[in-house]
Amino acid sequence: MRIPDHILGQITDRLDMQAVVSEYVHLEKKGGRLWGLCPFHSEKTPSFTVDPDKSVFYCFGCHKGGSLFTFIMEMENLSFVEAVKLLAEKAGVQIEVEEGDSKRREAYLELYRRVSGTFGHLLLNHPEGAQARSYLEKRGLERETWDAFKLGYAPGDRTWLFKFLKEKKFSDEFLKSCGLFSGREGTALFRGRIVFPIHNHRGEVVAFGARTLRTDMQPKYLNSPETEWFRKREILYGAPEVYREVRREGSFVLVEGYLDVLALWQAGVRHSLAPLGTAVTADQIRRLKRYASQGLLLFDSDDAGVRAAERTIALCEKQDLPTEVIRLQGGKDPAEILEKVGSQALQKSLESTISSFQFYLSTAHSKYDSRTPDGKRAVIRHIASYLTSLDSEVKREGYIRLLAEDLGVDFESVRSDLLRGTERSRIRDDSYRRSEVQGASADLFFILAVAVNREYFQEVRNTVAVDDLEDPRARTYYVALEECYRQGERSEEALLRRLEDEALRELLLEKTASGEFNLNPERLIQDGVRQVRRRSLEKRRGFLISALARAKEQDAVKELLGEKMFLDEELQKLSER
Ligand SMILES: [Zn+2]
Repeated sequence: MRIPDHILGQITDRLDMQAVVSEYVHLEKKGGRLWGLCPFHSEKTPSFTVDPDKSVFYCFGCHKGGSLFTFIMEMENLSFVEAVKLLAEKAGVQIEVEEGDSKRREAYLELYRRVSGTFGHLLLNHPEGAQARSYLEKRGLERETWDAFKLGYAPGDRTWLFKFLKEKKFSDEFLKSCGLFSGREGTALFRGRIVFPIHNHRGEVVAFGARTLRTDMQPKYLNSPETEWFRKREILYGAPEVYREVRREGSFVLVEGYLDVLALWQAGVRHSLAPLGTAVTADQIRRLKRYASQGLLLFDSDDAGVRAAERTIALCEKQDLPTEVIRLQGGKDPAEILEKVGSQALQKSLESTISSFQFYLSTAHSKYDSRTPDGKRAVIRHIASYLTSLDSEVKREGYIRLLAEDLGVDFESVRSDLLRGTERSRIRDDSYRRSEVQGASADLFFILAVAVNREYFQEVRNTVAVDDLEDPRARTYYVALEECYRQGERSEEALLRRLEDEALRELLLEKTASGEFNLNPERLIQDGVRQVRRRSLEKRRGFLISALARAKEQDAVKELLGEKMFLDEELQKLSER
């Protein structure tokens, strides 16, 4: 769904950004701007600022910034469209939902509902499904579990699904874009595979995962491609009503694979989910955080599993979502335990959990010899990434104490080692940032002044063309401004969205927040225009002079001289102004 810019403009015009943000952050007016304690990192003195005129925010501490819409997305864990809807309601602005969009979504869901039902029917009844049935039985999964997850079977035939759906009056064009068929016309993507319907947080089927039954077929698992309604980094695999269960429990269990989710469900653990064959993402954690206040991680005990667990712990801690780790006994993953020893044993093995800190610590101990000074230092370094991801100073202090005790060294020495490590990485961060800004050329400085004061762009584009700019960053800003200008988009959101480079987005927000271009912008911009223009005239003049030296024909010389005289006059005018 695309929301037109004038709607975004209407919403920000009607809402008082100060009032909206104040619901989350206490703001105070200081030096003509609004300041508060940043909600995105912990701090004691305010570095978070709001510009209500432009409806943007920026934090000088953690460099997070964006529009009012981005702010609500972050605070409420919403998608962009959801955030716009929420704010539109607050502002009393009607959003015209494009008729076509909602119709297509309905058709998509209808299609997946139907196909999922058909696959389910084939699993139970098709002769070809026998192999799939015996595979699931062998893995110890009962019929009740198949039903709960709407498991299915996709037969080996390449074209039947397309024909079948055509009969149900779905159009060719729609079927080709729905994620069920591969490149060549009407070839079913899933063939001869057990199908796991993938549900969104509302329990609607939006995609499929599928496992092959043949040992010679790759890949073992195949997922639907991304579509408008299926974004892998936002969706997790689970039972259709898993989010209701997560809310009821106030927690979730994250596992690695689809079969693990099924095994746990059968053992009575109904709030477990798995990523879709990739690493867990921040978007997925953000979604879970809306339903739960803590999580359990149950990853394989091999090296890859440990690394995945540590990564996920850090992601959760960054969003202030505490986690514990389950240490499985009796098998490498839940599916294997179910298959080998049954669901009661699986249930029991879930009872042994350790804190995330303990998990990091025991991993470090298994890697390094903590009896030696070098080993101790390596252990501290290993745990540093966990400690720095923590959102609370109190928690961090507590864990440093535990770590010191564990290693039998002084608290202060652990802390100073840790600080040194993190200082260094922060300094590296900052110097990178500073060098970026220091490298700010005259072009960049000029175009930033224009971007902060967009009302001058129309005038600027009459004299300065994108090719007159030499700094590629300045050109990127120019192009984004030009696109907004041509589309008649005036919102900050529109400009920020057109800047794909995060560093450029941040830099613009920082300059907006600092207010350094607010004093006499007209003068700043005029100076900039003059400078850019002079440079490009001089470049042309240099070219003319060398051309004159080479020119032989009378006419050519005359023409070149004429242009040079014109340029000289222009340059003269520029320096007189
Ligand atoms: Zn911040």
